[in-house]
Amino acid sequence: LWITLEGGDGSGKTTQAELLESWLRDSGRTVLRTREPGGSEVGQLIRDIVLHHRGDIAPRAEALLYAADRAHHVETVVLPALERGEIVLQDRYLDSSVAYQGAGRVLDGAQVRDLSLWATNGALPDITVLLDLDPVTARQRLDSADKPFDRLEAEKQDFHVRVREAYLALADAEPGRFVVLDAAASPDEIAEAIRTRIAPLL
Ligand code: C5P
Ligand code: MG
Repeated sequence: LWITLEGGDGSGKTTQAELLESWLRDSGRTVLRTREPGGSEVGQLIRDIVLHHRGDIAPRAEALLYAADRAHHVETVVLPALERGEIVLQDRYLDSSVAYQGAGRVLDGAQVRDLSLWATNGALPDITVLLDLDPVTARQRLDSADKPFDRLEAEKQDFHVRVREAYLALADAEPGRFVVLDAAASPDEIAEAIRTRIAPLL
């Protein structure tokens, strides 16, 4: 079972990944929790590039770097774990690229998606949980969070509005894969909603 979590910065993906991982482990499952960018050793190097040079990288180069990270991650980390019968719980996947590199950087979303599908030989998760949050609330959360300022989260508001709209359009286009949840709800309520959707797949 391959689960991906998607959503804008500040939508609570990490919190939900932690809660879902604990629940799955408590029910005796073997879970590989991973993320993009940076879910492999090579990917960590790519993450450092995109993290430290955000804004300085040509949009198409950025799209290729994310695709390269994804290609390596899927082949060396995700697919082997799935082959071993483990549950892969992944923070971000190709929908992030359609939203951020496509809508955010104003590239062609369909091309970005095709690039990613080429990179991964068409691998798609079984279920994608989209934590939907309006960017104003997300910004407030990030500003009040006790963590160092992250350049990667420094894009202007209109960027995040485009990202959110792209995510919702992706979910509309693939209702069978996506579960859209209101990320303004409490962490416990969201966790419960996620468990309700995952349980039948186990
Ligand atoms: O999810 P995480 O916080 O690790 O992502 C790091 C940063 O990378 C985020 O600020 C996110 O906006 C950015 N990102 C991106 N394009 C992607 C994935 C992540 O711009 N495809
Ligand atoms: Mg983040």
